[in-house]
Amino acid sequence: MLGNLKGLAVTLRTLFRKPVTHQYPNEHKPIEERYMGFPVLTWDEQVGEPYCTGCMVCVRYCPTSCMSAVMKDNPLHADGKSTRRKIVESFEINLGRCIVCGICVDVCNFDAIEMSHEHELSKYARNGNRTNLDKLLEMGKEYQQEVGWVAPKKAEPKEES
Ligand code: SF4
Ligand code: SF4
Repeated sequence: MLGNLKGLAVTLRTLFRKPVTHQYPNEHKPIEERYMGFPVLTWDEQVGEPYCTGCMVCVRYCPTSCMSAVMKDNPLHADGKSTRRKIVESFEINLGRCIVCGICVDVCNFDAIEMSHEHELSKYARNGNRTNLDKLLEMGKEYQQEVGWVAPKKAEPKEES
């Protein structure tokens, strides 16, 4: 009898408990600050250009070969407005093939790429998540704003003498 009452008490407690489940996709659980979502490119607000120089280091280290980058001479450097002699011209990540390992972030010397909180990019097409420079920068700006991002190393390419 006592056992039955205890069982009933547990049932009643559970009945009035706040649900812990979320009705996805209408409800979203909050993301932890250190959550690692897809990589995005960062924007240098002071100069008005990407941090990325298109150096290709991340491209070479990416274990799934899902990235590509092209570098060009930086017109802002020629005008004396930027210390970056080279700048990214085009950049692509096939986020459908990215395994979110973070190696690209670890090997980048220019704080140009960060693991964002973005994780909901389901597409029907096999290569529907090929993401270009503009989109990666747009996602990066959103992420920078969201977390109040400051370049961790304050890396500025050194002027060559
Ligand atoms: S993200 Fe970093 S490592 Fe990759 S191309 Fe740009 S500057 Fe180089
Ligand atoms: S997180 Fe890993 S798999 Fe994804 S782009 Fe970076 S290096 Fe490649």
